[in-house]
Amino acid sequence: MNKVFVLDKNKVPLMPCHPARARELLTKGRAAVYRTAPFTIILKDRTVEDSVLQPLELKLDPGAKTTGIAINAWFKTNPENKQATLIFGANLTHKAFQIKDALTKRAILRRSRRGRKCRYREKRFNNRKNKKEGWIAPSVQSIVNNIDTWIKKLIKLAPIKFISAEINKFDSQKLQNPFISGVQYQQGTLIGYQIRQYLLEQYDYTCIYCGAKNIPLEVDHVIPRTKSGSNRVSNLVISCKPCNLAKSNLDLNQFVKDPKKLAIIKAGLKKPLRASAYVNIIRKKLVLLIESYGLPYLLGDGATTKFNRTKQRYLKDHFIDAACVNEGAGSNVYIKPGFKPLLIKAMGRGDHQVSHVDKYGFPTGEPARGKRFFDFTSGDIVQFTHTLTRRSFRINPRKTGTFNIIDLELRVILKFKDQKLSKQKLNQLVTKIKTMTKTQVKTLKLPASVNHKNLKLVQRNDGYKYSYS
Ligand SMILES: [Zn+2]
Repeated sequence: MNKVFVLDKNKVPLMPCHPARARELLTKGRAAVYRTAPFTIILKDRTVEDSVLQPLELKLDPGAKTTGIAINAWFKTNPENKQATLIFGANLTHKAFQIKDALTKRAILRRSRRGRKCRYREKRFNNRKNKKEGWIAPSVQSIVNNIDTWIKKLIKLAPIKFISAEINKFDSQKLQNPFISGVQYQQGTLIGYQIRQYLLEQYDYTCIYCGAKNIPLEVDHVIPRTKSGSNRVSNLVISCKPCNLAKSNLDLNQFVKDPKKLAIIKAGLKKPLRASAYVNIIRKKLVLLIESYGLPYLLGDGATTKFNRTKQRYLKDHFIDAACVNEGAGSNVYIKPGFKPLLIKAMGRGDHQVSHVDKYGFPTGEPARGKRFFDFTSGDIVQFTHTLTRRSFRINPRKTGTFNIIDLELRVILKFKDQKLSKQKLNQLVTKIKTMTKTQVKTLKLPASVNHKNLKLVQRNDGYKYSYS
């Protein structure tokens, strides 16, 4: 279980405490709830001067979809064998792929709009985004921003004195042949560098036509440029110079005669952008980011993490990987069996689309003006004002003042409020309802909405959704 973060009365972070201790402090009135997720209390009668702090280590395992976050401490366990203890674990889910899809969708719409038969439009030049040095795609930038937000948040909540992160990737090519980088560097020009890097990884530094390795490799167009093949990654492969010259402006089917090989190449072209390539792009950004906090840090690699984790027989999970990053604290860390991490999901803060459209691009309605209704915004965590259930939940406010309840468990609790369901019974009911059809669920008449007057705010939306299990 995660420890509870503790702040002193001046909001300076103290050592996190056990949930039972936090409960005690809250009932005695010595503390108040500061945040619900991650759960943080603020002490009313204590300052940092009369507390003992042990340094905590913040550990990160960044990924394209999910970043593992862990906080390790050395307190309580035997200081002689230098075993660390995991006191906070979280899996932070990014929305990079959603962002990419949304931007692609917008681009397609705009393109079709320009192609429509409309008034004469003057040609537009130089109106593309000025991609300055250090620019990365919005989807990738969102990952970096998520990680930045969470490091800043956690530094404010816990006495973190050290950061370590898994930045370097295990590179089998480099380990087998350390001199290969020389060859790769020779062909590097700044333009297309990232595409080339991505392709080299995708095709494992191998010519896809003849399988040659450790030689200068080139980017090759599958459908040749002369036959209007595009510059998109899906039309690009890696080949050696002789193969590239031999293929010239032949089609793939003409050049590769072996049907087996042809099938393999075609399958490779359809492969989605590999997560490792994604992480590779953000690597540099993360190093700069971690440097910027001014705390001592250590950058580790994936191979060490995996070695540490398997040696200690922990199962694969993002927060566990994070706890095992680097030598030292990572190689000897105690993680309580069944430790449940906080699940954090990046939700964004909505869009600024002027009109909703259907799949044909036809306008279907306007989004509501403004985002705040009755002092609630989307993603606020709320509770009922009455003591029916203390469960807190996210809301999507409507201007009518009646907000939908999406949380199925909560709807079941409200329905059977007189019976006071046990946790087991509740779970049984919920799993049963999940298997039912929509019409069957309708006949149950579960409460589906709540009036804003019956709600009180617990925590403002901060762009993330929180859950356990
Ligand atoms: Zn070749």
